[in-house]
Amino acid sequence: MLRTMYGQAKLLLGHGKEGSHLISISTEAHRTASSTATNFSVQPQPKQQQPQQPQVPKAAVSRARLARHLELTWRQGSASHFPLTWLRDNCQCPQCYHPESKSRTVDWATCDVTIKPKDVQVSDDGKTVIVDWLDAHNSRFSAEWLHERRFEEDARKKWLSTYKQKKHIWGSAQEENFPRKRFNFSAVMSTDGGLLQWLLELEMRGVAILEGADSDESTVRKLAERVAFIRRTHYGEEFNVKSKSDPSNVAYTEQALQLHTDLPYYEYKPGVNMLHCLMQAQGEGGENQLVDSLRVAMQLKQNNPEAYKALTTVPIDWSDRGVEDGRPFQSLHRAPVIW
Ligand SMILES: [Zn+2]
Repeated sequence: MLRTMYGQAKLLLGHGKEGSHLISISTEAHRTASSTATNFSVQPQPKQQQPQQPQVPKAAVSRARLARHLELTWRQGSASHFPLTWLRDNCQCPQCYHPESKSRTVDWATCDVTIKPKDVQVSDDGKTVIVDWLDAHNSRFSAEWLHERRFEEDARKKWLSTYKQKKHIWGSAQEENFPRKRFNFSAVMSTDGGLLQWLLELEMRGVAILEGADSDESTVRKLAERVAFIRRTHYGEEFNVKSKSDPSNVAYTEQALQLHTDLPYYEYKPGVNMLHCLMQAQGEGGENQLVDSLRVAMQLKQNNPEAYKALTTVPIDWSDRGVEDGRPFQSLHRAPVIW
C-alpha cells in the first residue's frame, strides 16, 4: 500500500493489526507541500536506433525585431515575444551558463537587469538568434531553444500539461475513478514501462497497489530503491507494523488504526509510504482502509468553508515522542491540518 501527498491534501491511511512492513520515500509529488528539494528519479529507457531521417528543423526564425520585447517571426508564420531582461537572465554564453552542469552562473551582484540590446541578428539558416547588448555582451540562442520557451498561451498550456498528471478524485460517488487497478511486482521491478504505468497511477490517484511480491522483509526496500532514495526517520528507514509488549507507537498495538497520515510531525514529510503486507491477520480485522483526502478537503471547502479556512490557516502542534531501539526521540512540528 502507498500513501502520497496529493497537492495540498494528503491521503489518509488506516491499516490493520499486524504483519505490514512500511517504508517512506521522497517524491516530486511532495514539492507543492514543502519547499525542500527531493531525490526522485526514473531512468529513461535507452532510445532505439532509428533509421536516418533527413533533419527538419523544428523551429527557424525568419525575422527578428527589437522593440519593448524581442519579437521573432517564425518561418511557419507566427510570431513570439521575449522579454529583454528574461533573455539576458537566460543568456547561454559560457560566462552566464555552465553547459555541463546546466546551471546559470550569472552574477547578480554585477548584472544590470535594465540593460538593453543594441542589435539583433538571425543566422542565414534561421537556427540562431544573436543579441548584442549595450555593455558589449553577446548572447546566442538556438531558435529551437527559444521556440520551446515561447510565452504564448498554447506554449504555456503545453508546458503545464507535461509537468503533472491530472488528479483522479475518487470516493463512493466517483466509482469510475476508484483505484481498482493492480500492478504486477515483477513487471514494475524489471521493465521501465511497467514502472512508469505504476508511477502514473500513483500520481493520478495517490495510491497504486502491487501484487505478486514475495513475503520477504527486504522486498519493499528493493521496490523503494527502484524509484527513489529512502527517507530516514526516527523509526529508521523501515518500520515493522506489529504488536509489541511495550509500544512506543499505536502501530505497535493490537488495536485497529483509524485513518491517519503518517509522520505529520516532520516539516519535510515523505511523499510516499510503501506498505508491504507480509502476513494477513487471521479472523477479524487486518483490512486496510484508504481515503482520498484531496476529495475530503474539496468537499469540506464546499460544504463548510469556515471549517476549511480554520484547518488551512490555524497552526497546531504535531508531535511524537518515545523510544525506538533504545534511542529516545521527540519531534515537534507546528502547521495547519491541511496545507
Ligand atoms: Zn552571457
